[in-house]
Amino acid sequence: MTYLVNQPTDFVDESIDGFVAANRHLVRRVHGGVVRATRTPPGQVAVVIGGGSGHYPAFAGLVGQGLAHGAAMGNVFASPSAQQIYSVAKAAASDAGVLLSFGNYAGDVLNFGIAEERLKAEGIPCRCFAVTDDVCSGPADKTSERRGIAGDLTVFRAAVWAAERGDSLEKVYDFASHANERTRSFGVAFSGCTLPGAEEPLFTVPEGRMGVGMGIHGEQGIDEVDLPSAHELGQMLADRLIEERPASIDSANSARVGVMLNGLGAVKYEELFVLYASVANRLTDAGLTIVQPEVGELVTSFEMAGVSLTLFWLDDALEKAWTAPANTPAYHRGGVPLEGVPRDASDDIQAAEEEVPAASDLSKADAAGVLKIVEAIEAKIDEQADTLGKLDAISGDGDHGIGMQKGATAALAAARSAVDKGCGAGSVLARAGDAWANEAGGTSGALWGLGLRCVGHVLGDEQSVKAPAVAQGVSEATAALRRLGGAKIGDKTMLDALQPFTDILQSEVEAGRPLREAWDKAAKAAERAANDTADLRPRIGRAKNHSDKSIGHADPGAISFAMIVSVAATHIESFHQETP
Ligand code: ADP
Ligand code: MG
Repeated sequence: MTYLVNQPTDFVDESIDGFVAANRHLVRRVHGGVVRATRTPPGQVAVVIGGGSGHYPAFAGLVGQGLAHGAAMGNVFASPSAQQIYSVAKAAASDAGVLLSFGNYAGDVLNFGIAEERLKAEGIPCRCFAVTDDVCSGPADKTSERRGIAGDLTVFRAAVWAAERGDSLEKVYDFASHANERTRSFGVAFSGCTLPGAEEPLFTVPEGRMGVGMGIHGEQGIDEVDLPSAHELGQMLADRLIEERPASIDSANSARVGVMLNGLGAVKYEELFVLYASVANRLTDAGLTIVQPEVGELVTSFEMAGVSLTLFWLDDALEKAWTAPANTPAYHRGGVPLEGVPRDASDDIQAAEEEVPAASDLSKADAAGVLKIVEAIEAKIDEQADTLGKLDAISGDGDHGIGMQKGATAALAAARSAVDKGCGAGSVLARAGDAWANEAGGTSGALWGLGLRCVGHVLGDEQSVKAPAVAQGVSEATAALRRLGGAKIGDKTMLDALQPFTDILQSEVEAGRPLREAWDKAAKAAERAANDTADLRPRIGRAKNHSDKSIGHADPGAISFAMIVSVAATHIESFHQETP
């Protein structure tokens, strides 16, 4: 649905007001729509596009140098009237006439056709061109029945390119037609949309399903299937369009294509990029060369969820048109030239593998014990991720479970690989910590990474793991965490469990208790302290903004800390040397 509406009947008008106010340097409002801020030079054919509103950036957002000279703007999802088209065309036209171009919909064909007649009657040369890129809306042998969707853009780009280089109206028309012949789109939809002010959605797609070939106004598609993965969808879109290539392209192999992956409104850019990765691989595997791809919103339908893929099968002239500069409110090509030394693989600093530091046999044997503990921690966190997430959702952002899970999984992988490479116990732990911090993100990820790294450094790769070193490592980790994290006791963070753990471990070890016993006692204290954080009010971190909600619920970071030290307690004897 649309959230920001005054009177639904004023929606389009007010939207145009705002659009023009925001883009004064590029467009001007005229009756029926918008035109470029500069006059069309004499001798240049004006390309006037249009269609219903509700599809931004189509159509008004595509007015400017390198793209349309003007756009007639109809009501929401409705063709502009012939009168509107006529006045925009009149405002845009020079002596060379006007090409009217739009997607192939009955209302548009009718209204643009009437406008064409009127313009011609006044002596303004004019022709209409309807775009028919949607392969699902008509059979291959009757392309004139097909609708126009995102592929409108490639045809507009071609027509304007020809117009701007001074072609006659006939030639501009022919080049638009040539571009259309080489443009194919395939769309799918996951949900419908609700027009501004409407109570009910205009159309819907059942939850978990996908309308294959569904149009941008909910027009019937060719099938309805279960929602595929992004990868499957990428392959499906690419395969279908390769199959549907124009007759003039005998083999997909070695062809050059402009590519547009269009989001219909509710599909976010990150999702589009996930999908595009599969599309690009598939196209490249098929031997195609991708030229200046576009991934983003080009034709939308309010909050409709769906995407379309367009392939624009280039030849030399079409490639020039496709890559030519453009400057419109929503579409930019060219601009600041790329200068400087191009990067290559040597710029990737990650590439160099870290060297394995020397380690004693004793420490290597203990490394296996460290690995067992990390394995146990990972399993525990995996099992508890959901609980931790829910706890974090009460007054934080709900990501603690996922963060810890990612961190622990990465830590385990790093610890395994370090053991395989022959690292000592300290390096295994330090590398596990680094991996944890890298992958987990969030506050707790950084703190866990810091802590594990500290303990690892104190343990080192020479000595076998003994109680005093462990206690010292934990103390240093706690000090570092306090210094860098800035939390105090009672702020309701993991520190409220970590500090008693550290203190008891230290005093028990000093009293000569074996590591296993000392750790066990410290872990029990951590558990109690973690549960006691329920009474506290958060004073630091994300949760402090919702401090009231948090009363009565323990701090997630403290709880996960207690879980980890408790599960570690049961594996602590796996060290080579147990006695202090
Ligand atoms: P984020 O807060 O970035 O979403 P997580 O949800 O993974 O990170 O972790 C939240 C936990 O981090 C809190 O429950 C708290 O225990 C801990 N935490 C947050 N800030 C600090 C801090 N400054 N010092 C110690 N622990 C902290
Ligand atoms: Mg969180």
